[in-house]
Amino acid sequence: MFFLVYVVFRMSTCEPRDWDIPVSYTAQNTFNPIRNVVETMHIEENPQLEVIRLTVGDPTVFGNLPPSEECVQALCDAIKSGKDNGYKPAHGCKEARNAVAKYSSTPEYIVDAEDVVLASGCSGAIEIALNALVDRGDNILIPRPGFSLCKCISGSRGIEARSYKLFPENGWEVDLDDMASLIDERTKLIVVVNPSNPCGSVYKREHLEEILNIAEKYRVPVLCDEVYAHVTFGKESFHSMGSLTKNVPVLVVGGIAKRFLVPGWRIGWIVIHDRNNSFGLKV
Ligand SMILES: *Cc1c(COP(=O)(O)O)cnc(C)c1O
Repeated sequence: MFFLVYVVFRMSTCEPRDWDIPVSYTAQNTFNPIRNVVETMHIEENPQLEVIRLTVGDPTVFGNLPPSEECVQALCDAIKSGKDNGYKPAHGCKEARNAVAKYSSTPEYIVDAEDVVLASGCSGAIEIALNALVDRGDNILIPRPGFSLCKCISGSRGIEARSYKLFPENGWEVDLDDMASLIDERTKLIVVVNPSNPCGSVYKREHLEEILNIAEKYRVPVLCDEVYAHVTFGKESFHSMGSLTKNVPVLVVGGIAKRFLVPGWRIGWIVIHDRNNSFGLKV
């Protein structure tokens, strides 16, 4: 009886209609200029010259930078062991989080595995971080020139990405006055990319501290993209931003894509540096 009533009800309210599937706000506002450039790039090579390939941030494309034997063997062993075919905790299994904690620790600060969240690549880590801290109508500060992903994600969520200037003549250091001038009460994150893609710069410790001073003064947390951590040349040394402050909450995002030459393996992480439990005090 109930079924019959249900069927009659269904038939009387559900008029046949044409397919009409609107594109979501998110999809309409998702635009990543990098993909646009890379996927539409058709360049005629000059037959007279030997091409030196500097393109795209995927070190595997031209086959001259293979991953190490140790990495490949470790992955093969893990798969063959059959122990890791099941679901893992959403934030990553204990062994992997321990490994990232060890990798991210410095003499200044030992990272706890509890402060590590694994993600699908550094891109996934950035997405989780933005989801956790930034809402529609908020804004974040990003470097110009910079890696386009934060802007792309922001656009799709109604978040404003405000670009702060870098000084090309000064190792692409941040224009600190410009950075400070962009902050208002809806600024939820200062994004720093160090070492920088695309600039190739590696910030000195003192400069990272200057940026942290601004973050501390205005009470804005920092998201530092360190996917190129330790990829430095010559005398430059890399400093992880999370280890340089006791007061500013910093999310360091990283991954194995670039340094270990395996972007297709999609392993990334967030390391939460929050010595005073400043994140999530207010819901
Ligand atoms: C490549 C890159 C990423 C993304 O890394 P995946 O682990 O491949 O997602 C993030 N940030 C910067 C600056 C990059 O160059």
